[in-house]
Amino acid sequence: MENASAELNDVRTRIAAAAKIAGRKASDVTLVAISKTHPAEAITPLLDAGHRIFGENRVQEAQAKWPALREEYPDVVLHLVGQLQSNKADDAVALFDCIHSLDRPSLVTALGKAMAKSGKQVPCFVQVNIGAEEQKGGCAIVDVPALLVEARAADIPVAGLMCVPPANVEAAPYFALLAKIAADNGLTGISMGMSGDYETAIMLGATHVRVGSALFGARTAA
Ligand SMILES: *Cc1c(COP(=O)(O)O)cnc(C)c1O
Repeated sequence: MENASAELNDVRTRIAAAAKIAGRKASDVTLVAISKTHPAEAITPLLDAGHRIFGENRVQEAQAKWPALREEYPDVVLHLVGQLQSNKADDAVALFDCIHSLDRPSLVTALGKAMAKSGKQVPCFVQVNIGAEEQKGGCAIVDVPALLVEARAADIPVAGLMCVPPANVEAAPYFALLAKIAADNGLTGISMGMSGDYETAIMLGATHVRVGSALFGARTAA
């Protein structure tokens, strides 16, 4: 998108406004720019505007795009926001600085091993299937405490909780529920809010918002 830095300024302004209403600091909210499906040429304008925190949802796509960009911008911080197969755990730990999709015991095992092997500790958000949707990734709400225990036993740094609420319904109740589950479990990190609802998410406590299309324009394929 030619005007990427204008979009970035707009999103940052909205983040600051939502934080202010909620009595929070804008600096307490991390903007993760979700660049999935967008080529390096679309990402460079944001990098040149000073943004450094990006997210991808596929390990292979990120492996193809980011090593070259990182040579030019070594302080990039890369988040994985998509479902992760256990057999890609080594690759994910090597490439990413934060993982938002820890959602099952088998992945705890795989990521724990990958981190032990590489000596790289990657903070992970436990993804919660907040709307109890059958087709969706994420740990069932009742299983969150047990998964947290397993993650800590595997020496995985737990960053907090993450969710993607059901589509086409009001997201706020789901955001409030995720924030409550985080508080109940003594977690401060909350990854929630996308292009359509990140201001609401911030007012309900999001510490990480994952914004794609509001920064990069519409994706042709999701
Ligand atoms: C694609 C994606 C986003 C960003 O979505 P937009 O609506 O484009 O902002 C956020 N989180 C996850 C998990 C995603 O897959």
